[in-house]
Amino acid sequence: MSNSQLIKIYQVLRDTYSFSTGWPDGEWPLSGHFRPQRLEVVVGAILTQNTNWNNVEKALDQMVRQELVEAVKLAHCPQSQLERAIRSAGFYRQKAERLKRVVRFILDYPGDFYGRVRREELLSIKGIGPETADSILLYACDQPHFVVDAYTCRVFARYGLLGERASYQEIKHFFESCLPVDVRLYKRFHALIVEHAKRTCKKTPLCHACVFQTECAYGSKVN
Ligand code: SF4
Repeated sequence: MSNSQLIKIYQVLRDTYSFSTGWPDGEWPLSGHFRPQRLEVVVGAILTQNTNWNNVEKALDQMVRQELVEAVKLAHCPQSQLERAIRSAGFYRQKAERLKRVVRFILDYPGDFYGRVRREELLSIKGIGPETADSILLYACDQPHFVVDAYTCRVFARYGLLGERASYQEIKHFFESCLPVDVRLYKRFHALIVEHAKRTCKKTPLCHACVFQTECAYGSKVN
């Protein structure tokens, strides 16, 4: 795979979906109620673990209603209150603990967390895995870390560019080594992959309607 092939895939996705729904410009969808707004990305990245975005939105809405929108308030509110607020996101006990851990980490961070935090530091927090860490780094901190999710694995494994057993780190390296170091591009590409996986390369893929059918390893075998 060369840089130009991956860029070509990006361009085809962009021309196909044109950011008509969901994430204009590939930015994280923010309600604007959290302070600072970047905190909402951190919270959303944890809430979205193992659930869909609709459930996350309901939980965020409850947090806003209860004014749990600042790190200090989140750190000091009773855990039971936070659990009730985020119940719709599932795994609410575990996620409330993770939220409390991460906001304490932000509050204790020496200097500007959003400007300086490093990947290894995020990964050292219990409950923050590679996908959550990279989502925080890319969308809250504007650092060039490509986010790999289940949609990315599905689309690119079917396409024939990733092995079924490729590790998170291998896939992240694959994208980052083929693409220019560009935060905006990483955000947009990720959003387009999600769009493609939801609309066309679904669990049961709609290969006949897909722009990649002739070049995709899976799609080209579909009659
Ligand atoms: S051709 Fe089919 S399997 Fe390949 S990317 Fe398109 S929808 Fe997915």
